[in-house]
Amino acid sequence: MLATAEALSRLLDAARRVDARERVDTLDALDRVLAADVTSPLDVPPMHTSSMDGYAVRVADLAGASEGANIALPVSQRIPAGHAAQPLAAGTAARIFTGATVPPGADAVVMQEMAQVSDDGRVAFAQTPAAGEWITRQGADIRRDSVILPAGTRLTPQALGLAASVGCAQLDVVRPVRVAIFFTGDELRMPGEPLEPGAIYNSNRFTLRALLAKLGCEVTDLGIVPDRLDATRETLRRAATDHDLILTCGGVSVGEEDHVKPAVEAEGRISMWQIAMKPGKPLAFGAVRRGDSGSEAYFIGLPGNPVSSFCTFLLFVRPFLLRLAGVKNVAPRVFSMRADFSQKKGDRRNEFLRARVNESGGLDLFENQSSAVLTSTVWGDGLIDNPPNHAISTGEIVRFIPFSELMR
Ligand code: AMP
Ligand code: MG
Repeated sequence: MLATAEALSRLLDAARRVDARERVDTLDALDRVLAADVTSPLDVPPMHTSSMDGYAVRVADLAGASEGANIALPVSQRIPAGHAAQPLAAGTAARIFTGATVPPGADAVVMQEMAQVSDDGRVAFAQTPAAGEWITRQGADIRRDSVILPAGTRLTPQALGLAASVGCAQLDVVRPVRVAIFFTGDELRMPGEPLEPGAIYNSNRFTLRALLAKLGCEVTDLGIVPDRLDATRETLRRAATDHDLILTCGGVSVGEEDHVKPAVEAEGRISMWQIAMKPGKPLAFGAVRRGDSGSEAYFIGLPGNPVSSFCTFLLFVRPFLLRLAGVKNVAPRVFSMRADFSQKKGDRRNEFLRARVNESGGLDLFENQSSAVLTSTVWGDGLIDNPPNHAISTGEIVRFIPFSELMR
């Protein structure tokens, strides 16, 4: 059996970025992946601006103010945000507002709370400002011609704001990754249908579809496929035509009713099968031929147990899909945290234990770690990555991967 890290690195090495790109409005680009660097055509801010409501002054005119000299200046102009500024005449102050252009010649802004307006319209200052005070310099945020967002960036709300701040109305992004998904298992019914003896609800459909939606994939859901080789092969052929990845759920173990692996072997190839992890051991990776075109669709077969399919999606499918979309850094951040529980015996496989952060900043373990107990994934905040054959003692520092990192 392959070690988790080895399997993941092989999987990511095999991922080829989707070539096609499209241009979208920046307003609609949330969570998309940049296909090209975004370079700023301008300085941001484009001019020196005031970061306070107050008075723009020449520091030299206020020399001695801090030592008690009573200095009052006439107000020579008023500069609201969005309006042009005239050069500041020596020996005068300009009334100025937050975001307004600092007039040429001024080298500080005094906030209005530190200035006293007298009846004759002059304004008095009790302190000498430092040069540059309350001025945001031109280019303080972004310099013209600098790359502000490199290709491969997944666009967060703040990244969209940054792109807009340099005037980008549209962005070049990678076209969404196309995923076909289907489920195997004659026992599966959809919520809303009656549950006859032996049947269970297809909960994985809901979990996996939502996970795919979060990653911005274009999904074709081919539903539940009967536990038969011919039906499975036929669905694989259909799925391969217009999709980058075929994702299946269930039927990848070693039972006689598990037809996914033989079907993929008949329609393409299996390049990895069985990972030394718990849950998720039956995970399979390969490719399915696209007719006679000579091209292939990637294939990932997830195990059917709900916790197994959830965890293997987060740990393998998510980074793989992000790589297909051109994202460079796909690794979740892992945190060192204290185990507030003990687990006497380690498993031979790399365990991913459902755990929750408690109020004292340690980790509690969900009592039932069975791969069929989906409740653990709702109760938990993330997964403890426990190496093979490793018992955990109370107080020990363990590797914790929060779900928030695995679902970004
Ligand atoms: P399999 O991987 O097909 O051997 O299935 C392993 C276990 O997961 C069995 O108990 C199945 O009934 C269950 N299972 C398979 N697919 C699903 C699904 N889509 N939703 C919920 N449980 C499933
Ligand atoms: Mg099955």
